Amino acid sequence: MKINMPEPVKQIISRLSASGYEAYAVGGCIRDSITGAVPNDWDICTSALPEQVEAVFSDMHIIETGLQHGTVTLMINHVGYEITTYRTEGTYSDRRKPDYVSFVTDLREDVNRRDFTINAMAYNDENGLRDYFGGTEDLKARIIRCVGTADERFNEDALRILRAMRFAAAFDFEIEEKTALAMHRNRELLSYVSMERIAVELLKLLKGSGAARILREFSDILAVVIPEITPCIGFEQHSKWHCYDVWEHTLHAIDAAEPGELIRLTMLLHDIGKPECYTYTDGEGHFYDHANASERIAKTVLKRLKLSNEIIGTVCALVKHHDAYGQIGEKGIKRLLNRIGMKNARRLLMVTYADMCGQAPEKRMLKEEKLEYVRTVLDKIEENNECVNVKSLAVNGRDMISLGLKGREIGDALNLALNAVIDEKVKNEKTALMEYLTNTELRKH
Ligand code: ATP
Ligand code: MG
Repeated sequence: MKINMPEPVKQIISRLSASGYEAYAVGGCIRDSITGAVPNDWDICTSALPEQVEAVFSDMHIIETGLQHGTVTLMINHVGYEITTYRTEGTYSDRRKPDYVSFVTDLREDVNRRDFTINAMAYNDENGLRDYFGGTEDLKARIIRCVGTADERFNEDALRILRAMRFAAAFDFEIEEKTALAMHRNRELLSYVSMERIAVELLKLLKGSGAARILREFSDILAVVIPEITPCIGFEQHSKWHCYDVWEHTLHAIDAAEPGELIRLTMLLHDIGKPECYTYTDGEGHFYDHANASERIAKTVLKRLKLSNEIIGTVCALVKHHDAYGQIGEKGIKRLLNRIGMKNARRLLMVTYADMCGQAPEKRMLKEEKLEYVRTVLDKIEENNECVNVKSLAVNGRDMISLGLKGREIGDALNLALNAVIDEKVKNEKTALMEYLTNTELRKH
């Protein structure tokens, strides 16, 4: 088999080789090359010790990324190439990182520590593909399988449990039976893994085309990381809008959503507050105020995952308003725009669409029409640059001061003006607004 490596990778390997060391491209880049995907990055492993690597590339820009783990990064044309010395790992007794790494001279020992057969292949032009564990076959059969004994591998590093789900979701692969059983069996170990590492894998998992299927099969594992989903699983809705329980609806919504992490995270969390809001009246289940409950729980979950404030803010806003487009008119849309902005209002269209796909089919048409309406109104507002927030009013703080207002009164008056404009009581023009504020509204206060 011939793999087409980028020029810099070829150069790195041949330079190391000319100095008497072995070197291979290894891991994800080989897996992706075989399937025809474009690798994210090219990792190189070598028999050379880190200081020997540094000596070979002493004329080039080298970053000592993780010297004690044997990794240096070589920068070529602003792209980083990680070069890691062949190594084995000690146990992960803190469940975060190995207690020690030992450098070794045999490629086989290095790939032996890697997680899955499809990730444990190495290649160079001189020796071709090195596949000691049947990675090529598993790729062809679309199977995730641990290298070695699954129970042991998950005990060394429980993050691998989530990584198996991530790769299966991303490539739409099955997880081999023994590996899958060991994942379920060892799931509690995930509670020792750092949230930062978990979050990286969870986001990649959610983006995968097989995300819903994998989360269905391994919901017990997700529940270790997000125990808040547990009440949703099997929670019957007793509602004409719904043909699935809360968790099954959630999975359908994830499946229907675009593969971006914001929308997928939103769908995962949008109904998480439903079970606690459940009431049953007149033969029908209700979930009053569940969007706010979901938002509150979502915030706890996202903070625990240590995600960025930007992600937390956006996802919480989308969860809070995920039901907003059900019964909304133009004025309501403008008020919503004032709170969440145009970008999130457009994202909310995707959220509503995905949500709708998880609902009873006969109710979908209604919502589809509604969505088309909201989209048209958003387009119109954007095209005409219509006023939806205080910033786009034809009056500003200085104008309010000229009316004799001070402190909090300024903001209050601007909001009054905004509401009057949205309600079409007054045009968004300076004279009209000043007159409106002086003659009518302000007098009441
Ligand atoms: P991606 O395309 O997402 O970068 P990748 O396979 O390159 O996928 P990385 O997380 O970048 O994944 O890891 C690079 C390689 O290191 C993997 O292919 C695998 O061989 C090995 N690896 C990474 N994390 C682990 C782990 N927790 N346990 C064992 N091996 C691992
Ligand atoms: Mg990688």
